[in-house]
Amino acid sequence: MTEKTPKPETWQPETMAVHAGTVRSQFGENSEALFLTSSFVFENAAQAAARFIGEQPGYIYSRFTNPTVTMFEERLAAMEGAEQCVATASGMSAILACVMGLLKAGDHIVASRSIFGATINLFNNVIKKFGVETTYVSATDVAEWQAAVRPNTKLFFLETPSNPLTEISDIAAIAAVAKGCGALLAVDNCFCTPILQRPFELGADIVIHSATKYLDGQGRVLGGAVLGSKKNMEGVYGFLRTAGPSMSAFNAWIFLKGLETLKLRMDAHSANSLELARWLEAQPNVTRVFYPGLPSHPQHELAMKQQKTGGGIVSFEVASSRGSGKEAAWRVIDNTRMLSITANLGDTKTTITHPASTTHGRITPEARAAAGITDGLIRIGVGLEAVVDIQNDLARGLG
Ligand SMILES: *Cc1c(COP(=O)(O)O)cnc(C)c1O
Repeated sequence: MTEKTPKPETWQPETMAVHAGTVRSQFGENSEALFLTSSFVFENAAQAAARFIGEQPGYIYSRFTNPTVTMFEERLAAMEGAEQCVATASGMSAILACVMGLLKAGDHIVASRSIFGATINLFNNVIKKFGVETTYVSATDVAEWQAAVRPNTKLFFLETPSNPLTEISDIAAIAAVAKGCGALLAVDNCFCTPILQRPFELGADIVIHSATKYLDGQGRVLGGAVLGSKKNMEGVYGFLRTAGPSMSAFNAWIFLKGLETLKLRMDAHSANSLELARWLEAQPNVTRVFYPGLPSHPQHELAMKQQKTGGGIVSFEVASSRGSGKEAAWRVIDNTRMLSITANLGDTKTTITHPASTTHGRITPEARAAAGITDGLIRIGVGLEAVVDIQNDLARGLG
């Protein structure tokens, strides 16, 4: 392998997305190679020994070292401005690796109430068994974060914008609280990607990704990543190497190609979302639209300071003038012909979800109400189609 990459940190984000991390093999391929091999061969016994004790750099076994995965890690690290990236099998295993790598029994997490449902299940049902407790606080009220701190608080965890209501957490303000109490701040940057939001520049210590969403962007494979300083990634990488929730080389190759078009796609998802959100606001049977790019969003100003655009997720409430909120929302969903009825997002294809009966269906009605997820709420993962076609598909059930 010969390295030709100059200093990726001097490049613009879209250039990093195309070139950072690229290492060519002896064949000089232009597109990054896919190394589908579980292990690597040594020249002799002494080299094997030197590789295993870390005296000599080089590849050993794809659970913890694979050239295609390394190229993806280097590229995403350059784009987020991180010293190191650890790629994982999924977004959930990235969060698991983060907690297992950085915390121990007796430690405490303060987390936003408005995080991905599976993350809440992971904290409550898995991590808790190993003696790490989590306190949930408001995504938007910084004082609640401060009030929840205990002497053993080691990690703050948030996601912004939140799903499905697009609440915005003030990363810089919450990072300052974390710093003040000696805790690390982890930000799940899945919805914005480094193209729209760079949490490290705002004081975050860890960035998490579900690469499954926008980094692939075409709804094909699962993957995740944890990013941070070399010091913070030491335990995370150690967990991955030992426990094995590793990213497959094939998936890393898909994500490398996905990153190359990330800026173009995020710009297009954002432009479509803003146009769709404005159109929804003008519909008589829509009572409320949640989109950080709209001036009517309660945290529009913070969002526009912290993110480049409003992103690709738009949620709205359907008026329940004809039946219950659920009936009204299901009528919109069931009258679509082009939109994909699926819980995924970050795809070229626009997706439509009824959070109250799917992604948030397992929590109690009281908890749902407290979280502001009404029966009339619909979430759209806005894709890359012409907006007029998305509007026409939604209009049928809204009329
Ligand atoms: C999907 C998602 C995850 C989990 O990622 P998987 O790749 O599905 O494991 C975590 N956080 C957010 C914000 C997500 O949307």
